[in-house]
Amino acid sequence: MPAQQPADHRPAEDAPEMTRRQIERMEGIYGNRYLLEPAPDHKLPRGGMSAEEAAELISEEMVLDGLPTRNLATFVTTWMEPEADRVISEALRVNFIDHAEYPQTAEIEQRCIRMLAHLFNAPGETTGARTQGSSEAIMLGALSLKWKWRGRREAAGKPVDRPNLVFGGDVHVVWEKFCRYFDVEPRIVPLAPEKYTIGPEDVEPHIDENTIGVAAVLGTTFTGHADDIRGINDHLVALKHERGIDVPLHVDAASGGFVWPFLYPHSEWDFRLEQVRSINVSGHKFGLVYPGIGWLLFREKDDLPEDLVFYENYLGKRDATFTLNFSTGAAMVLAQYYNFARLGHAGYRYVMETMKYNARALATEIAAIGEFEIIGGGHDEQLPLVAFKLTGGQVYDEFDVAAQLAAERGWMVPAYTLPPNAEHVKIMRVLVKETLGHSLTTTLGADIAQACETLAVKGALHESDRKRVKTNTGF
Ligand SMILES: *Cc1c(COP(=O)(O)O)cnc(C)c1O
Repeated sequence: MPAQQPADHRPAEDAPEMTRRQIERMEGIYGNRYLLEPAPDHKLPRGGMSAEEAAELISEEMVLDGLPTRNLATFVTTWMEPEADRVISEALRVNFIDHAEYPQTAEIEQRCIRMLAHLFNAPGETTGARTQGSSEAIMLGALSLKWKWRGRREAAGKPVDRPNLVFGGDVHVVWEKFCRYFDVEPRIVPLAPEKYTIGPEDVEPHIDENTIGVAAVLGTTFTGHADDIRGINDHLVALKHERGIDVPLHVDAASGGFVWPFLYPHSEWDFRLEQVRSINVSGHKFGLVYPGIGWLLFREKDDLPEDLVFYENYLGKRDATFTLNFSTGAAMVLAQYYNFARLGHAGYRYVMETMKYNARALATEIAAIGEFEIIGGGHDEQLPLVAFKLTGGQVYDEFDVAAQLAAERGWMVPAYTLPPNAEHVKIMRVLVKETLGHSLTTTLGADIAQACETLAVKGALHESDRKRVKTNTGF
């Protein structure tokens, strides 16, 4: 008798249609289980899948997010050199907070802090912290303002129950978040049409002896311009001398901190100004590192209140920490140090100048279309971006242009409205980063012109389509 053949699950070649069972039996050779099943969603799947399948499942879903390099909305870095990628992948196993086990990582953090303090013209020895981004840096910096204010008030025997913080409507949402989380009254200077930053005359009426500090922005997310930081500083200096009220200034340099020192070195916004006591900057924006790194710098050691620092005996070593998080990766700290070592001052300047040059070229292209007005193009100091709006009178609006560009070419260019009292102003914004070189800016200019032509013929998009367009500014 012939030996029994192993069961062959393949359908006969001439079978009209395969059953689901038949398809499933063949998965082991040809396919992936998830092709016939929903992705794991509301509970852990009963069993797993192969490593290859799991990775493929995720890659296929990520396609929906588009190409990060076509995301012209974000300030955050979407490309680094392959050597930096290597440094990062080798460090993925390192927990940054384990200073005792990884002392060299801690040393490299300190080197970065010293280099930034020097870049921002700190007068002498200072201190700072690595953070998850500018948001954590702002929380910690603003807490320091609150603690210092309370210390001054208590020493003078005055009440400490009604702290306030003064800033413009052009700041990032994190400032309001700080006020709510840490119980400080926000005093927000509203914007106005044609006035998208603030100056001394705006903050003056809001300041009193309960003001823990003023926050000014170097490079707003809305139009990329800076508040009149020098003007605000001078006003605060006068206030100190004339009325004895010492109000510190914190500069939110999330974006501008890595732009101004290289493009506008003579513009004073940093520790050269007397009242500037602390500065935050995002390493993952123009510091040119992937997301997950920010920095907080103090003017002097004394600007960090001692009782906000935690000294702990961790695994046998005394360690000082000033963070909101505890465990986190060391990779982005090393990536920041990689950029500092790799680029140096000249390299950062080269990158920033290139971006500025291409941003200007793009602004010229967009202006030539004839449908747009460039916002703040005449301004000397701006982040490398192009902010623009329609001249008015078109049958379509900025949100339509954004949707049309996404539909035709996959460009992610945000359209958004400005904060109070300029909320009826609609703006579009393109970040011009290293990956948007000259030929791509030319292509983008032509694509924007094409989108306008299409919209002029077909008219505005349906209201319900419009809702689907992302309207946040993609910080
Ligand atoms: C991006 C940004 C923030 C928040 O920074 P993260 O690094 O994203 O936490 C705060 N302020 C300004 C001005 C910003 O541009």
